[in-house]
This record gives sequence, C-alpha cells and structure tokens, in this order.
Amino acid sequence: MVGAVKKLAILGSTGSIGRQTLDIVRQYPDRYKVIALAGGHNRALLAAQAEEFKPEIICHTVAEEESRRGKITLEQIAALPEADLVVIAVSGDAGILPTLAAARAGKRIALANKESLVAAGSLITGAAVESGATLLPVDSEHSAIWQCLAGEEGFPERIILTASGGPFRNYTKQKLARVTPEQALKHPSWNMGKKVTIDSATLMNKGLEVIEAHWLFRIPFDRISVVIHPQSIIHSMVEFADGAMKAQLGCPDMRIPIQYALSYPERLANERLPRLDFSAIKALTFQAPDYDTFPCLKLAMEAGRRGGTYPAVLSAADEGAVAQFLEGRIGFNEIAQKVAVILDEHSPIERPGIGDILKVGEEVRRKFSRN
Ligand code: NDP
Ligand code: MG
Repeated sequence: MVGAVKKLAILGSTGSIGRQTLDIVRQYPDRYKVIALAGGHNRALLAAQAEEFKPEIICHTVAEEESRRGKITLEQIAALPEADLVVIAVSGDAGILPTLAAARAGKRIALANKESLVAAGSLITGAAVESGATLLPVDSEHSAIWQCLAGEEGFPERIILTASGGPFRNYTKQKLARVTPEQALKHPSWNMGKKVTIDSATLMNKGLEVIEAHWLFRIPFDRISVVIHPQSIIHSMVEFADGAMKAQLGCPDMRIPIQYALSYPERLANERLPRLDFSAIKALTFQAPDYDTFPCLKLAMEAGRRGGTYPAVLSAADEGAVAQFLEGRIGFNEIAQKVAVILDEHSPIERPGIGDILKVGEEVRRKFSRN
C-alpha cells in the first residue's frame, strides 16, 4: 500500500545527486511531491526542473537567493516545517549551514553532502540528537554500512570503507605530477560532480568519508579502515565482535542509495535500477591504499583524529586546492601539499562553535584568494 505523499525539499537539485534524486521522484509521483528546489548557478536547469515539478519554492545561487514567496535562504529551505524529507545535495562547504539548520529543526535529512559532517559533525549530530532529527546517509559507502547495521545491537568491531582507487590507482608520484584536470575528471566507475571526482582521484574523498562515518555511526577512528576495491561492487563492510562480516553489494549507481534514503524503511521495486550479474563479474579484488602516493587520505584521517577545527580547515583547504587544480593553476600533487601546509599553520580550537568553524573556513578561503 502506498503511504502518504512525502514532501521533499531538495538542495542542490541541479547537481549530479540532485538530478538523480529527481529521476527517482519522477518515477513515483504518487509517493513524492517536490515542494522546494535550490540550485547554484545553473539557472536554466533549475527553471526547467521548476517547470516540471512545480515546487512552491525555488532558490538559486547564494548571491541571489530568490523565491516565488520572496527572499529565502538555503538554511530556511532546509528547515521548512512542511518538508517531510530534506535532501542535502549541495557540494562542498556550502552544505554546512543548511545541514545544521535541518538538524536543529528536527528534520528527516537525506544527506549526500559530506563536507558538512566533516567540518561540523559534532554540532550537527549533537543538534540532531537534541531535536530528534534523523540523518539518512546517501553516500554509497555510508548507505552500505547503514544497511549492514540494520538489526544489529551495539557497536560493530570495525567498519571497512571500500574505495575504487580512482583513475590513477597504480600511478607513481612522478606520473601523478603530470595528470591534467581532464584526466582526473574521468572516474572509472562513478559519474559525479567535479569536486567529488577530483577528491576521489586524490583519495581525499575516502578520507572525508572516514570522518563522515565517524560521526554518522559514532564509531572511533581506530575502528574505521579503508581498502581499495577497484570494481566498486562492494560498497562497504562491517565486522562484528564474533568475526562475522556483512557487506553490501550492488552496481555502482547512486540512484540505489538515493532511493533507499527516500523510501526508508521501505524498499521500492524499481526495474530501472541495474542488477548485478555475477556471471559477468570476473573478480572482486582488494588492495591496501598507498598512503605515500596519495597523502590526502592520511591527512584527512589525521585531521579527523585530531578533531576540533582541524577537519573544517582540511575541508576548506581541499576545496580551495581542488578549485586551483581545476583552473590549471597547480599540479595534482600540490593539492595534498597545499592542504598539508594549511593544516600545519592552523592553530586549532578544541570545541568549536559554528562561528569558529565558519571563521576558520573563511580564513582558509582568504589564503587561496591571495595566491
Ligand atoms: P555537483 O557539483 O554535481 O552538484 C552540486 C550542487 O550544489 C549543484 O546543484 C550546485 O548548483 C549546488 N551548489 C553548489 N554550491 C552552491 C551554493 N553555494 N549555493 C547553492 N547551491 C550550490 O555535486 P554532486 O552532486 O556530485 O555532489 C553533491 C554532494 O554529494 C557532495 O558533497 C558530494 O561529496 C556528495 N556525494 C556525491 C556523489 C555523487 O555520485 N555525485 C556520491 C556521494 C556523495 P549549480 O550546479 O546550479 O551551480
Ligand atoms: Mg562515497
């Protein structure tokens, strides 16, 4: 039986995750109604989406927040009382304030944006506990862990995040020094937005996901490990106290975890979603990450362990360095170098409030605007 129609507010609807969310919504008009759409600079696509889904509210770009009702911010959209589910699919640090606003407002949140939990995980999860908000992971690894933990009691012994290894998996440092943004934007198994694609190539993405997992599942850093799994079929694994392990598998298609976050606790039959064909899979392989060649992974894990404002600085520094790499101003290996230098220079604040987190991010952005 189909339940009540879920009213959705989608932030970042013009991006990769946002568009795929709308693909699911399009298939189930009796289940989902879009009441708010927010995008960045792609006005033409946002207008087309608004025409198709007829939300009451549309909002584009931070500079020119507008809506049919008058001015409205991403934070206000994230906290809309009438929304049953808020999908946060904006990229980068722009997700911090809306995610916190949704958490404070007690919303049910389908969270794709990982940078918000990286920078402000303590505040967001704390606010969610206080308000009764629910965080439903969209990131495929975290959706996998969430599914593996269903029906389990207590903490798992270990979480193992899988990583495809990106397009440069077996490259040397010398070879990496010469890669271009075009090469880095060609991910072998996932089709994603630019920032997360570059983060996947540097393995920063996996480091950010370690911090994301720490906050989502309240698991200590020393119980989270990473393994390279180039086929991207196992989306992550959990090991329990008795040595038993669970893994979640599926084709690498983000619509699967997006749909699960939308429909949870139900699973909707969807014949458009791809099925795994085991006879076509030749092998599932695994290797340890190369921390020396891909230093971003270690930088992120260390920033996570150190806590305080370190992860916020890491996230802002990575965003700045990735933008410079995409503009052709720095080489691939310099992304990690820049992030490392900025982390070294940072004087941390141990228990930061949201003002501190935004301030350190702003300081990092100023460093990038100067050079
Ligand atoms: P995209 O770059 O494709 O899309 C980002 C979206 O955010 C766009 O709608 C963009 O608008 C909007 N946006 C960016 N900055 C702002 C801003 N300041 N104000 C308002 N809107 C803004 O990214 P993805 O969809 O790939 O990723 C979104 C998030 O999900 C990221 O945090 C990423 O790490 C995470 N994620 C993505 C996965 C994927 O497969 N793509 C997988 C797992 C996690 P516009 O384009 O109109 O400018
Ligand atoms: Mg992921």
